[in-house]
Amino acid sequence: MPNRSSNAGHIPQRTCVVCRRKTDKKKLMKFVLLESEIVFDLNHDVEKRGYYVCDDNNCLQKLEKKVKKILRSRFDDGR
Ligand SMILES: [Zn+2]
Repeated sequence: MPNRSSNAGHIPQRTCVVCRRKTDKKKLMKFVLLESEIVFDLNHDVEKRGYYVCDDNNCLQKLEKKVKKILRSRFDDGR
């Protein structure tokens, strides 16, 4: 385990795209969108904008629907 004492007391928070709850980054799963595909960024090495979702069946089940919305709004922005 790396010693990260300089960061002690500060845990980065991210928002789940499905339920909008803010949670510790470590408890969320990061994924990126490649074209219309969901790719989970398990090694945190994808240089793309990431999204986060709770590691929780409830949110994972709704993820696909949510992603479709995100993709749609992304294309609308592109004009
Ligand atoms: Zn969630």
